[in-house]
Amino acid sequence: MNGGNRNYQKELDKIIDGLIKTGTRPKLLMHTCCAPCSSYCLKYLSEYFDITVYYYNPNITEEAEYRMRTKEQKRLIDIYNEELSMDIKFVEGEYDRELFLSKVKGYEACKEGGDRCKICFELRLDKAGAYAKNHGFDFFTTSLTISPLKNAPLLNSIGEEVGSKYDVRFLPSDFKKKEGYKQSIELSKEYGLYRQNYCGCVYSKNEMLSRQKGNDNE
Ligand code: SF4
Repeated sequence: MNGGNRNYQKELDKIIDGLIKTGTRPKLLMHTCCAPCSSYCLKYLSEYFDITVYYYNPNITEEAEYRMRTKEQKRLIDIYNEELSMDIKFVEGEYDRELFLSKVKGYEACKEGGDRCKICFELRLDKAGAYAKNHGFDFFTTSLTISPLKNAPLLNSIGEEVGSKYDVRFLPSDFKKKEGYKQSIELSKEYGLYRQNYCGCVYSKNEMLSRQKGNDNE
């Protein structure tokens, strides 16, 4: 399961060109991981799609952290809707940490980017695909491809598999292209968004803490 040499940004450009030519504005369910990552994706795609954010992240194992990220996601959407006249809707998926922990059992020691993350992507994209199907969306996608630490071909492959399973189109993306990642950092600064320094699960937090400890000891 990998995307070989596909250029997902170009594939997205092609779909957007088609929408412009036909004057269509599809309904897009966008799974988001956090406000900073979504800042660029939402701004970029709201020009072409009617967007509903699907915030489904049971991988964030500490509840206070989860609440903080959720609050920031909602605050960003409110800013965009009020200040930039967007009309982004928000849906929060179930915060079921136990489900995440049970899915990644046995993979706790994996480094970020390994097999645990694949399971985590599958869980989140599967829920997003099911929601998109059940609520009549034309497309679904995820903001996760903006991160340089996330495997965009893998995310797109999983998205396509989920799309086939539920018969709903997965919108290809590699949001870090076209300076997307850089723009997301600038937007986060502009709106004073909380930017966490680890991915989400307790294992990624521990990895970050031991990296910091290692740096302190150097
Ligand atoms: S490091 Fe991030 S993507 Fe990987 S399992 Fe943890 S929360 Fe999920």
